Amino acid sequence: VKEKGKAHFQFYRSEMNSILKNVVEMETLLRKAIERDELSLHYQPQVDLLTKRVNSFEALLRWNNQVLGPISPGEFIPLAEDTGLIIPIGNWVVDTACKQIHEWSEKYKQDLRIAINISPKQFQQYNLLKIIQKSIEKYRINPKLLEIEITEGAMQDTTDTAPILSRLKDLGVSISVDDFGTGYSSLNYLKQFPIDVLKIDQSFVKDVLTYDKDAAITTTIIHLGRSLGVEVIAEGVENEEQAHFLLNAKCHKAQGYLYSKPLPPAEIEKNFLEEFYIK
Ligand code: C2E
Ligand code: CA
Ligand code: CA
Ligand code: CA
Repeated sequence: VKEKGKAHFQFYRSEMNSILKNVVEMETLLRKAIERDELSLHYQPQVDLLTKRVNSFEALLRWNNQVLGPISPGEFIPLAEDTGLIIPIGNWVVDTACKQIHEWSEKYKQDLRIAINISPKQFQQYNLLKIIQKSIEKYRINPKLLEIEITEGAMQDTTDTAPILSRLKDLGVSISVDDFGTGYSSLNYLKQFPIDVLKIDQSFVKDVLTYDKDAAITTTIIHLGRSLGVEVIAEGVENEEQAHFLLNAKCHKAQGYLYSKPLPPAEIEKNFLEEFYIK
């Protein structure tokens, strides 16, 4: 019995070691990801449910490492947040998205908005506002074409977040609440912060046709957004039935695999910008 216990323990310990080793290795590689040019932004279209037009996109970070291959944001974003690497990576995202806004504005002569994800940790960065302002000036873009997606987690610490958000608002940057309805006291945040867009979390959209509660919550968020005069975007829309429900409920926009997965810029241009309308 004793032997068996020991063997188990050793197995557990070596398993733990290899997990720890992987995390340390991943951190080392992530640290070099920017200079090695391994990061990129993919873009997912947000479709106007009435006109079927696309004039906004969400930027989603991708990491393709030489050794490990593609690693999903679900894996490396938490690591980046824990190690502080989210600061240089987040700054790279701001710069790259602003550059993309500039390129598309020049090329297509129309207002195309790009939303970037900002983690709560980035609001603890004293010069976040400066970083964003610099990139806007560097690429001479219209600030309203840049949108900041924040979660309710970022709004929890109002002392850090509130002043930055109101300065961003003064600059003309759009502000969006991501995963709306999944955090705490969302309603209070809506009152305190200058919000432009509400994004209905995919967990509600997923079962909107099969569960009365999800349907009720989704409809209520849409009504709430409309009464506040903010744009409402449903996330994770995967089929026509969901899109139809959302259109009926007067949701403004939808984003999801039904229309497109997140794609590299060249494919976005080919599929959405060169034609203008969804096929
Ligand atoms: P999120 O901001 O809630 O992004 C939505 C996620 O849902 C994305 O996963 C997107 O690819 C995925 N998605 C889009 N349409 C559908 C659909 O129809 N069905 C389903 N099931 N999923 C869909 P992704 O790209 O793996 O990103 C995961 C999370 O990583 C994001 O969640 C966000 O929290 C974080 N993230 C991604 N890029 C960045 C970034 O640049 N900075 C920061 N701080 N976080 C990021
Ligand atoms: Ca998001
Ligand atoms: Ca989301
Ligand atoms: Ca999410």
